Amino acid sequence: MPQRSPHHPLTYYQATAPDLHLPPLVGDHEAEVAVFGAGFAGLAVACGLQDRGMSAVTVLEAHAVGHGASGRNGGFALGGYSRDPARLLADWGPEPARQLYGLTRDALALIRHRVQAWGIECDLIHGGAWWVDWFNTRRSRQAMAAHGQMLREHFGVQWEALGPAEVRAGLHSDRYGGALWDREAFHFHPLRYAQGMARAVGAQGGHVHPDSPVVRVERQGTAWLLHTPQGRLRATHLVVAGGGYLRRVLPRLERARLPIATYMLATEPLAEHPVQTTAAVYDNRFAFDYYRRPSDGRLLWGGRISILERHPERIARMLKADVLKVFPQLASARIEFAWGGLMSYATHEMPQLGRLSDGLWFAQSFGGHGVAPTTVAGELLAELMARGGRTDERWQRYGLTPVFGRLGLLGAQAHYSWAELKDALHEALTPRSLH
Ligand SMILES: Cc1cc2nc3c(=O)[nH]c(=O)nc-3n(C[C@H](O)[C@H](O)[C@H](O)COP(=O)(O)OP(=O)(O)OC[C@H]3O[C@@H](n4cnc5c(N)ncnc54)[C@H](O)[C@@H]3O)c2cc1C
Repeated sequence: MPQRSPHHPLTYYQATAPDLHLPPLVGDHEAEVAVFGAGFAGLAVACGLQDRGMSAVTVLEAHAVGHGASGRNGGFALGGYSRDPARLLADWGPEPARQLYGLTRDALALIRHRVQAWGIECDLIHGGAWWVDWFNTRRSRQAMAAHGQMLREHFGVQWEALGPAEVRAGLHSDRYGGALWDREAFHFHPLRYAQGMARAVGAQGGHVHPDSPVVRVERQGTAWLLHTPQGRLRATHLVVAGGGYLRRVLPRLERARLPIATYMLATEPLAEHPVQTTAAVYDNRFAFDYYRRPSDGRLLWGGRISILERHPERIARMLKADVLKVFPQLASARIEFAWGGLMSYATHEMPQLGRLSDGLWFAQSFGGHGVAPTTVAGELLAELMARGGRTDERWQRYGLTPVFGRLGLLGAQAHYSWAELKDALHEALTPRSLH
């Protein structure tokens, strides 16, 4: 398996997206807006600002563009947030919840538009997403049907029901029952999309500097001064978008989110592919498998949630075992890449975004469902910076709640393990339907 190092293994995405060859920040510079973190959130803010006529934006990235979760994720672009839509409904009531969810649907349309308008070659596949029934019990079927109905009734989203036979025609596996098909979803090569956004920022008069970790932030009069190992950047506005990778720069933000790992692998291109659908696929367990077939005929597979970053060999072993539970015919398929990434989670499972103090903005905690919500954050923050106004009450309510450091991490691990155990009990104790 190709590797850079155990801590930075080469991902499938890195191997299939040539580096952008941008220079680091060297010397003293100025910008109207400084963003740090060239993941989807930071880049979406930069693009949103430029769309609103603020072109003097500089993005600083500690490693390469898309080094974090954004360039190593499953590539599923779905509506909604990490927080279940039923909980949004309970939080706000029908109309505000619908609006909140609607922002992510608009975000999907904006991503599609950007890919097309900027000619980003990111293997975007308009196949939708299948949410497949792992358990295939009466209880699971009822729960899936109720979820579909809730989405239809309250969020105006139509997820089409598929029977077990249709699922088996698309997935050569007898693991699942039926599915719900979200046709609005799509999937893509996330690193190439991040790189495409970085190119667009440059083309519109901004700058993106990789290998430029922000090590210190200082207030100087009404400006912010950012220090990197080789340079300094002065800006009126500062946007912090370091995700689960932010360390020792802004403790107030770091104390409000948990870095949680999840893992992926890529097989060699498969001669007989078990995935015949163009949809991206995930199942209805708490710690679900997620997978898809990119155009080069590999299987890209993700799963597991943990507080631990693991060695690629270990990830490959763990996930291969999961693959074989669904597709035992892939026993001899070679695993060519395995890697992990850090998501950032708030206790309320909603993004944290807004203004910390004068000119200091933040966007973080998109969880495992960040492709559309990072775009939402980009649009909202860009609008506030460009046109003024106050952060919407809804985002203030999902604020910077403390996560209690290591204790919080242990709590999260216990929560995940308990949810996994509940899923295992459901599977063991409830009879599956015969197809
Ligand atoms: C394996 C995996 C699979 C996933 N699958 C999906 C999926 O299929 N669909 C989906 O919607 N979501 C998915 N997610 C979640 C999604 O990827 C994230 O929610 C989203 O990418 C977060 O974007 P971000 O910009 O906030 O953070 P990141 O992408 O992590 O970006 C933060 C960036 O900030 C940089 N940074 C940190 N500190 C500094 C500093 N001091 N100076 C400069 N730069 C700094 C980091 O290097 C990093 O590049 C997945 C996540 C993972 C890890």
